[in-house]
Amino acid sequence: MQFRDLISQYNALKGEMDQAIMEVVASSAYVMGPKIKEMEAAFADYASMKHCIACNSGTDALLLALMAWDVKPGDAVFVPSFTFFASAEVIAMQGATPVFVDVNPDTYNICVADLERKIEQTLKAGKLTPRVIIAVDLFGLPADFKAIRQVAEKHRLYVLEDGAQGFGGRINGKEACSFGDITTTSFFPAKPVGCYGDGGAIFTNNDEWAALMESYHIHGKGSDRYDNVRIGMNSRLDTIQAAILLVKLKAFKEYELTDVNKVAARYTEQLKDIVKTPIVPEGYYSSWAQYTIQVESKDIRTKLQETLKAHGIPTAIYYPIPMHRQTAFNYLNINDNLCPVSDRLADTVISLPIHPYLSEKEQDMICCAVREALK
Ligand SMILES: *Cc1c(COP(=O)(O)O)cnc(C)c1O
Repeated sequence: MQFRDLISQYNALKGEMDQAIMEVVASSAYVMGPKIKEMEAAFADYASMKHCIACNSGTDALLLALMAWDVKPGDAVFVPSFTFFASAEVIAMQGATPVFVDVNPDTYNICVADLERKIEQTLKAGKLTPRVIIAVDLFGLPADFKAIRQVAEKHRLYVLEDGAQGFGGRINGKEACSFGDITTTSFFPAKPVGCYGDGGAIFTNNDEWAALMESYHIHGKGSDRYDNVRIGMNSRLDTIQAAILLVKLKAFKEYELTDVNKVAARYTEQLKDIVKTPIVPEGYYSSWAQYTIQVESKDIRTKLQETLKAHGIPTAIYYPIPMHRQTAFNYLNINDNLCPVSDRLADTVISLPIHPYLSEKEQDMICCAVREALK
């Protein structure tokens, strides 16, 4: 059994996929070929956003957003402690200071009360200038953007939606990747919509920022191809990946997103009496980048993981070390007890296999094994 079965997906899409890939190969338009604009338009349309800029990874996408806002040393950027490293890494790459915020134990997303607290503390300390809130759509569930937006407006901060796992989610019918002043996503193969390698994209409705990020992602290009007007980077999406993503987006819209939601609903139905299953608040829709459950303790989790492994069922721990305990951030000298919920989750969460191609039979077997391990 696969944790995220990309082989079944490829087999389902094979005819169309092989043709799309071979067209690019035969055209020789490998870098910035016409499929890039087509893919950007299709993704912008899906998220109902004016601009989509394809780039080389979800990490670069976050970095490009911070570059457009000129986030720099002396700036504070607020980010949840319970996330993938890249969400916080990019802040330090810009020389700014990450301020870690705890998360909500039900949604795994940024805790708005703690966000307020951390902003107040930062202002009181007087050393850093608060600039940006990075809110992550963890495991496919959009963050609480209504409350986040209120805090951002009160303190005049930008909202950066890290939608690396969020593409396809919704709040009251509005698509994820539309909630930030700038939003980013990732096309890493295991994400809700993945390509066959690294890839990412940036969404915004702001023309000025879009123009800046368009420039930054191709060596700070100006209107003349060989007059570079700012220091940028090389972060283009390969044309071949754009062609792959067009095929994937079609399947995602037609059935994958619906199917993965059926899988999640079935898990919840079968497991809700024995573990803490994911909570999707009223009006929210998840794209199920992960199906993450919580158990009582680290020991129980270890036992559960071992039992599942013995049954040939792969699991994963997202994430075992919160950001405020990452070795790379030791230099910040942060107080250990700043994000107790993130600490607890790091010890008690475990993610089960989930993808649109998981059969009911496989799922029943997984649920049986979970029950057996926990009884
Ligand atoms: C995957 C991920 C990223 C980084 O995306 P890459 O394409 O791997 O660079 C950033 N943030 C979150 C929350 C992610 O899950």
